[in-house]
Amino acid sequence: PQLSPTEAQWLIEKTVDNFTNYFNSGFIDYRKSVTEAGDYAAVEWTGRGATFKDALGRTFIDCLGGYGLFNLGWAHPEVVRAVQTQAAKSPLPSQELLDPLRGMLAHLLAEITPGDIQYSFFVSSGTEAVEGAMKLAKLYTGKSGFIAAVRGFHGKTTGSLALTGKALYRRPPLPLHPDIYHVPYGDAEAVEMQLRIAREVGNDIAAVVMEPIQGEAGAIVPPDDFWPRLRQICDAYQVLLIADEVQTGMGRTGKMWGVEHWNVVPDIMTSAKALGGGVMPVGAFMAKPEIWQVLNENPFIHTTTTGGNPLACAAAIAAIHVSLRERVAEQAATKGEYLLAQLRKLATQYSDFFEDITGKGLLLGMHFKDDEIGYAISAGLFKRGVLISGTMNNARVIRVEPPLVITRDEIDTVLDRLDDTLRSLRVARAGERNT
Ligand code: PMP
Repeated sequence: PQLSPTEAQWLIEKTVDNFTNYFNSGFIDYRKSVTEAGDYAAVEWTGRGATFKDALGRTFIDCLGGYGLFNLGWAHPEVVRAVQTQAAKSPLPSQELLDPLRGMLAHLLAEITPGDIQYSFFVSSGTEAVEGAMKLAKLYTGKSGFIAAVRGFHGKTTGSLALTGKALYRRPPLPLHPDIYHVPYGDAEAVEMQLRIAREVGNDIAAVVMEPIQGEAGAIVPPDDFWPRLRQICDAYQVLLIADEVQTGMGRTGKMWGVEHWNVVPDIMTSAKALGGGVMPVGAFMAKPEIWQVLNENPFIHTTTTGGNPLACAAAIAAIHVSLRERVAEQAATKGEYLLAQLRKLATQYSDFFEDITGKGLLLGMHFKDDEIGYAISAGLFKRGVLISGTMNNARVIRVEPPLVITRDEIDTVLDRLDDTLRSLRVARAGERNT
């Protein structure tokens, strides 16, 4: 529908002047307004590659990528076509045994996941994938404890939330899953100490759960010996190693899976977000055959009606084909290296604002001296047509997570606009000091 000038003005005020609100609660009003205006489905809100138009027709370069959904860009035509075709045939599942697509997708995943990770269970989100991984670890080991990382993020349902290492999210719905122990991220010796203590005092640990590179925490890359040491330690203490690849998977960090940077094969792995090609919600937890045995023996112990439905599977199958053919992991590696180097140059130039630039591939983090700088830069970029994260409760670290298919020109435009934002922020701050 055409928004009336008042409605359009109202939206602009909501989105631009109250930038934080746009993300926190603004979108609820946004939808209300559009519904009041008439036909919600007719709203133009489209994208291709890394560029999209919002409902007001403003063009943005997407450096948020749906928090890791849009590795293949917005509405990749091949994935869209696969879903459309499937929707016209059999959109939702009738009975798992009749559904060939799950098997095809599982087969593809077995091919592209590290080592002997071979079996998959499909769900519709990252948090469900982590819940499934936790449950599988408990069933297989007969133990219930987990070690996870401070500031790690694994989801917000009560199992995965227990692993998530942030009081802000964990505290309100306490108690969560018991027997969860957090250690500093990137410190393998801390994991070992926790396991040693657990053994000494009689806590049973089923698994260590970590992100290969921490995403939500701000693209934190662990030391190079972290993952290989984790593998050794988990073997020595006979606990499982779970890699949560929900954000790092599907090429994001410059390899198909984050753990491939260190040639480590976890026992259980999760995926979601980009697995659905940015078109359908799809998640999975995957494991080695001997672990999966506990599910094969009791197939009804874990089920979900719509997880791995034909639309989701069609999207994921197409997404994997496109990812391999377009070599998106390599694209992420090359573009990420360039973007990281350019961001580091800017960080040196504006060292009064920046603390650090971190990350790998196209999972990068800009670390600022304080929250205010982060908010100002996020808002400044938004006004200049670049969408990045960095709102909600923490703008001190802002992730830069564009679609892996972003072009070099788009990257350069983003860098120009960031430079411009930084320059005007510096001028504004100098003005404040003078008044
Ligand atoms: N694990 C990781 C590593 C994540 O980054 C996220 C989402 N940010 C999740 C799990 C949860 O995924 P979802 O939001 O789809 O539940």
